[in-house]
Amino acid sequence: PDGGSSGGDAAGKRKAASALPEARGNKRQAILDQRRALPISSVEGELVNLVKKNDTLVVIGETGSGKTTQLPQFLHAAGFCKGGMMVGITQPRRVAAITVATRVAEEMGVEVGKEVGYSIRFEDCTSASTQLKYMTDGMLLREALLDPLLSRYSLIVIDEAHERTIHTDVLFGLLKGVQKRRQAASTASTSSKQKAPKTGDSLKDLQSLLATSNTPAVKKISPLKLVVMSATLDTKGFCEYFNGAEAVYVQGRQFPVEIFYTFTPEADYLDAALLTTFQIHLEETPGDILLFLTGQEEIESMERLLKERASHLSQNVQKLLVVPIYAALPSEQQMRVFQAAPEGTRKVILATNIAETSLTIPGIRYVIDPGLVKARAFNPRTGVESLEVVPVSKAQAQQRSGRAGREKPGKCFRLYTEDLFTKLVATTVPEIQRCNLANVMLQLKAFGIDDVLGFDFMDKPSRISIVKSLEHLYSLGALTDEGKLSDPIGVRMSRFPLEPMYAKAMLISCDMGCSEEMLATVSMMSVDSVFYAPRDKLQEANNARKRFISVDGDHITFINVLRHYIQEAEEAGAEAGEGEGTSSNSSANENKKAFKRIRSWCSANFINARSLRRAVDIQKQIRGYVEGMGLKITSCGEDMLSFRRCLAASFFLNAARRQLDGTYRALSSGQSVAIHPSSVLFGKKPDCVVFNELVRTNRSYIRNITQVDSLWLPELAPHYYAAQGVGTPSQQQS
Ligand code: ADP
Ligand code: MG
Repeated sequence: PDGGSSGGDAAGKRKAASALPEARGNKRQAILDQRRALPISSVEGELVNLVKKNDTLVVIGETGSGKTTQLPQFLHAAGFCKGGMMVGITQPRRVAAITVATRVAEEMGVEVGKEVGYSIRFEDCTSASTQLKYMTDGMLLREALLDPLLSRYSLIVIDEAHERTIHTDVLFGLLKGVQKRRQAASTASTSSKQKAPKTGDSLKDLQSLLATSNTPAVKKISPLKLVVMSATLDTKGFCEYFNGAEAVYVQGRQFPVEIFYTFTPEADYLDAALLTTFQIHLEETPGDILLFLTGQEEIESMERLLKERASHLSQNVQKLLVVPIYAALPSEQQMRVFQAAPEGTRKVILATNIAETSLTIPGIRYVIDPGLVKARAFNPRTGVESLEVVPVSKAQAQQRSGRAGREKPGKCFRLYTEDLFTKLVATTVPEIQRCNLANVMLQLKAFGIDDVLGFDFMDKPSRISIVKSLEHLYSLGALTDEGKLSDPIGVRMSRFPLEPMYAKAMLISCDMGCSEEMLATVSMMSVDSVFYAPRDKLQEANNARKRFISVDGDHITFINVLRHYIQEAEEAGAEAGEGEGTSSNSSANENKKAFKRIRSWCSANFINARSLRRAVDIQKQIRGYVEGMGLKITSCGEDMLSFRRCLAASFFLNAARRQLDGTYRALSSGQSVAIHPSSVLFGKKPDCVVFNELVRTNRSYIRNITQVDSLWLPELAPHYYAAQGVGTPSQQQS
């Protein structure tokens, strides 16, 4: 610890800090010692041999045993990255990809982005020299679109396989296919004269894949190896699915964790979490606290509450340091969870389920588990997807409590009754069986896999949800009548790293002359809310928000925020530019000043600066995709009527109309919904709206809403609305 001379900021910059050589030496030694102490280190040779021997290997090991950070380094050392080949490691979450790559780069003593890099949606931190590439599973899918044989990879590690995210499940099937084809290609290329293939089809398949591949003709391609890693013990499913693959267990180290339940159900789990945190802080021996929450908004409000209360703690108790971690947090801030709290301070980490198995955070002895998680849910009958806060599974609850016992015995406080625990489901249903498959189906079609119902899924999604998602794609114009990807619409849509509906919205807006505004909208929809309203300053926050509000709804309100922000940033930049000196020192100062001005603008307007920065970043990236397709970005200026028409044309599948009794009815599903209190249209009772999000709590709310003219729907989406005649109110009753 005394070797850690790099300050908080320096560590976040993701560059090798040029600390004193001696301090750096100490740190390297400390890292080396830490690595050697990991359970996985003692079986390095054995693991490498097993990987060499098997096409596919399943590796099971408890969280923290060193799978994610160590195994790729073993493979690197064993020569799997020779000859310009890479080892790819997929992660279900962005945060994990970034932090793990950063850690591994540090362990290897290289700069992240060079030999060790990461690639996530909207951020590619790799280079030509990258050998170990951490990436989200979604990114590997996109890569496979451009290079169907994944020819630069000698081996792919599918990490956190137990999470069974939708992308992981699609990757399973796809990678099995790639393995088969690489096998065929390697035998085909080793024989000078091509032998007759076993089936004519597979060769045709391969040739067409090679023809569409962006990589130059592959001379010789080695077979692709797979390693499937999981933190849970149920290997059977994986092994069977991967043609009887061998499984190997890495012994973990786990200290006992004492579990506490509440006697009665908690009415308000946030309140209970707050109390429990301070109870631990004031009464328990040293050790950090990990509190599981469901999302950014909850984490941010808890962060404020905890900081506020902690500021009233008496001088003679130790300090409380609150550190949040969730996906949308900028990466330099994510790294803060790994920094040890200063002497005499207890750290409390507020995390989403990212900290369940993906990240191992040192120092934790206390876990607070409200037993909830935000999950995607999908109703295949209505085709409506929503985000819901649902109880965790038993397996998840056990993973969470395990986080308290990594280094010493620990305690886990479950904020629910023991009786409730026994009623939790054993394991979480794979995401692919409970979410909207439109994006996945679009990707499969883009891979040329037309028989999506016959795709080799480990657990098949229901037929009805596949059919629903195909209908969804069809109504967006992404599929032809034959069910093939349409060109150019479907092809272009599949290129965007966006949900199909947003991808289509970008294309439509280019035709309707308001792509600048749609770009802003899609970017703002891709981040968590930019508004925040602390409980004690609600009135102030509402007043500040008024200057951005558009009576037409949330989309234009968001555009106003972004426009104001960009103007403010430009002015701040110009002001900074006016400063005389050109020395790097003074320009750094000027930058700081500009940054400070933008920050204070954000806080004065109750705007979440992090979310907004990320939105600006995403905007830049999507702009690149649009321009890369040869399309133009144009603004409609103040002509918001055109823009609202464009919203109607884009989001017609998410339209809702007011009923006689004042409630709303989603037109595509017939579901009864209400306008979410966070919407600027809350209490305004517009006749017809389009929306972007459905949230289910005690009832169904729609969020991110704009009012449209109901007659626009049959006009702009005749293929969908003409048949149903929803434009005419009289037919609403049906
Ligand atoms: P697994 O994948 O088996 O859950 P990891 O490889 O993620 O395990 O972690 C192994 C160990 O490395 C952890 O116990 C933790 O102490 C350490 N570690 C991982 N990431 C970091 C980091 N960013 N900073 C400090 N220590 C880390
Ligand atoms: Mg791991």
